[in-house]
Amino acid sequence: MRVLLTESQLTDGVERLAAEIDAHYGDRPLTVIAIMTGSLVLFADLIRRLSMPQRVGVIRASSYRGGIKSGELTVDSQMMIDVTGRDVLLVDDIFDTGKTLDRISGMMTDFGAASVKTGVLLHKNTDHVVDLRPDFVAFEIPDEFVVGYGLDYLDMYRNLPYLAVLSPDEIAQTAA
Ligand code: 5GP
Repeated sequence: MRVLLTESQLTDGVERLAAEIDAHYGDRPLTVIAIMTGSLVLFADLIRRLSMPQRVGVIRASSYRGGIKSGELTVDSQMMIDVTGRDVLLVDDIFDTGKTLDRISGMMTDFGAASVKTGVLLHKNTDHVVDLRPDFVAFEIPDEFVVGYGLDYLDMYRNLPYLAVLSPDEIAQTAA
């Protein structure tokens, strides 16, 4: 596996992200929503570095269905907390096509959020299919399929403390 970001680079990136978010919101209470499952590791690290009072919730989105190409997006909001009148920050692992954050941002507005912003660990250098752009980004990365630090392939590799690019051979071996 080719390491793209080491554990200490990721830590620095999350610290930068938290500092930017803190600077933007100051002491205003924030409702922070994790987009599961990819943001699991980032989320745990990020919320403990933010200084404002927080409400914390999760929402589940899935678009890969076992492949490495984005497919149809499904969103499960059963575990959502009330966002009415709240400032909401959506946290996701990676912004690729942008469809996930675009859809969920719209849902938050429909649920009555006072404001909605988005923060991601990774911004993929690819053709985005939506107008939305993430408000807070830790790293820009090339258009390659990455795993680790919460990101999976077939539910594996989320536990890696670093971010790595899976080679075609590794993709085939994992799928076998
Ligand atoms: P988008 O809706 O922006 O196309 O994709 C967002 C979701 O696709 C991410 O939350 C993530 O789950 C998945 N995704 C996009 N690119 C990658 C990648 O390189 N590796 C992995 N493991 N997941 C990705």
